[in-house]
Amino acid sequence: MRARILVLHPALGPLDYRVPQGMHVEPGSIVIVPIGPRQYVGVVWEPERLPTEEIGDNRLRNLLAVVDAPLVPELVRRLVEWTANYYLAPLSAVLAMTVRSSAALERAPTIVEYRATGEVPGRLTPQREQALERIGDRQGLVRELATIADVSDAVIRGLVKVGAIEPVVIDTDSPYPLPDPGFAPPELSGEQAGAAKILRDAVDAAAFQPFLLDGVTGSGKTEVYFEAVAAALQAGRQTLVLLPEIALTEPFLTRFAKRFGCEPIAWHSGLRTSQRRRAWRAIARGEAMVTVGARSALFLPYPNLGLVVVDEAHETSFKQEEGVHYHARDVAVMRGRFAQCPVILASATPAIETRHQVELGRYAELKLPGRYGVAELPEIEPIDLIKEPPKRGRWLSPRLVLAIDAALERGEQSLLFLNRRGYAPLTLCRHCGHRFQCPNCTAWMVEHRLIRRLSCHHCGHTVPTPEICPECEEPDSLVACGPGVERIADEVAALWPNARTAIVTSDTLWSPAKAAEFVARMEHGDIDIVVGTQLVTKGYHFPNLTVVGVVDADLGLDGGDLRASERTFQQIMQVSGRAGRGEKPGTVYIQTHAPEAQVMQALISGDAAAFYAAETEARREAEAPPFGRYAAIIVSSEDKAAGEVTARMIGRSAPKLDEMHVYGPAPAPLAMLRGRHRFRLLVHARRAFDVQDVIREWLGGLEWSAKVRVAVDVDPYSFV
Ligand code: ADP
Ligand code: ZN
Repeated sequence: MRARILVLHPALGPLDYRVPQGMHVEPGSIVIVPIGPRQYVGVVWEPERLPTEEIGDNRLRNLLAVVDAPLVPELVRRLVEWTANYYLAPLSAVLAMTVRSSAALERAPTIVEYRATGEVPGRLTPQREQALERIGDRQGLVRELATIADVSDAVIRGLVKVGAIEPVVIDTDSPYPLPDPGFAPPELSGEQAGAAKILRDAVDAAAFQPFLLDGVTGSGKTEVYFEAVAAALQAGRQTLVLLPEIALTEPFLTRFAKRFGCEPIAWHSGLRTSQRRRAWRAIARGEAMVTVGARSALFLPYPNLGLVVVDEAHETSFKQEEGVHYHARDVAVMRGRFAQCPVILASATPAIETRHQVELGRYAELKLPGRYGVAELPEIEPIDLIKEPPKRGRWLSPRLVLAIDAALERGEQSLLFLNRRGYAPLTLCRHCGHRFQCPNCTAWMVEHRLIRRLSCHHCGHTVPTPEICPECEEPDSLVACGPGVERIADEVAALWPNARTAIVTSDTLWSPAKAAEFVARMEHGDIDIVVGTQLVTKGYHFPNLTVVGVVDADLGLDGGDLRASERTFQQIMQVSGRAGRGEKPGTVYIQTHAPEAQVMQALISGDAAAFYAAETEARREAEAPPFGRYAAIIVSSEDKAAGEVTARMIGRSAPKLDEMHVYGPAPAPLAMLRGRHRFRLLVHARRAFDVQDVIREWLGGLEWSAKVRVAVDVDPYSFV
């Protein structure tokens, strides 16, 4: 007996092994295989679907073991193949997203974790003190606690020995509570009930059907798709809900629990090993009925999926830009197709690609045109920064300042939105003009005053902010150019010294727990003014927030890529959607240098339909997505010459076809990233053209130096 195995090794194709006497495997079995002296995890595949070089029986090695875990379902194997094929990614790299962590596979129904006892050790070294302080009431493996505390494993073990930390036995196979569809169903409005009924019926029909749930911010989209979740629960089928950010999972869990009586299973990168193992197994056994997570939850091996929801479906964070370059929204639709179930894309500002699918009749559209209850959509007021400029060295115009004054007076909350982390995007020396650039990237170092460092937002390189210019050695000569959220927060502190403010960025809300803490403070009215990046534009519901100020509405238009206007529109609509969600009406102030620009006009007039129509027409003329297709080929190397030679060679050997045009190679706008020089080619093709097939053949016939990496980005969202 032989078996064909897809091994979780990025550089290896499928391999054949002998199945030893007494071992039983079938397609989907997770197995351990030997490769050289090492062991790898692999999955048994249908041989006819994975052609490989035939090896004689006498040269086969034995499978080492079958992992005691549920099979990877057939539908999931087909999804893995489809994704690898569509995104030109190695099968093993896609499969790795399914069979996620080895922790999920080890047969260990109980594991031992550790937590602090509260006891203070007799000998309290600085290391021990640091460890106990940082661990707080967290729990985890020794390794995890050591990482959290930034100390060695030995320090943690020492603390166990003296009784300051104790072991806890965790049962990783214990079942999760089941959400109850009838726990606390809401009274739906007429509009909501109509949409909910259609979704429930679609779940009951158990057939593939994508929906665009298109409702303004605050219209109750979540409440409506919860009814579909309830239907899936009643039918005994699993639901997957994808959210764009892990920061949003925490409030979602609470909200879900209020409706269904218990939390769903959360899947994100912040899980502890034991949580990950327990969740993976419950999902794979079909017992985890509702899973919520970021895009990585998409490839988990649900055997019995009855509903997929993509919330805030327009978000570009669903596009993965590393490893396998896939778009979770698009793969989610395929997932529903394989599973024969409905897929709900919920958004107040759907992507043009999604709207186009509605126009083609492939997706059904459900509309919720009004806010729920008494809440009204906010007033939008443009502020022309040329006519009403802020004071010198300030960023908030007088009218916006007055509006926040008034909100403070009324005891209401305000939000200032600027999509830029840190204090200032550029720092230079006023004496010699020296600018601080990242040594690894074509990017300026961004000043973060809260932690007194300059940091690169591309590679994470950071240095302490210098006191003297490293070039001319002039002291105190550095000036910050332009604003980031920290600088706006400074301005807020100067204008309203008594106001309670919060800065919300990925620097401050880096974990679901931090996000939950922020939400709680907002809800309790402990914050008057929030200054935040795109992280605050999503999903939050704060009824007492009535003033929103968009500090620089033109910021997103700079890049000039194909979706710049669309993204600006979505982002500002979303942040506007945070205003006036309760009984009190809201106002949104949009600071811009270009109030006459089409996107600003659309925001001011609220005429989304006209904006979409114009954008769609422009795309059609340019044969840009969704009317044509792009694929980017990104060549990178630490050795600039080697990268350039390869990029040129790829360009020279491009097939000459009528349906397809190749631009480049050219140095990428982000010419260096993480120490690698980058060159780009852009393939532009007709919509129906199988560009993947052409690229596969084209690149498959070429060879390049091991120093060079070639990545293909099908349907790219980033052009830098
Ligand atoms: P969206 O997702 O469209 O922005 P939400 O689902 O967050 O809207 O709803 C906005 C607010 O209105 C939430 O606080 C939600 O609980 C409330 N809400 C919406 N529909 C109902 C309803 N039928 N009954 C009670 N509250 C509702
Ligand atoms: Zn960098």
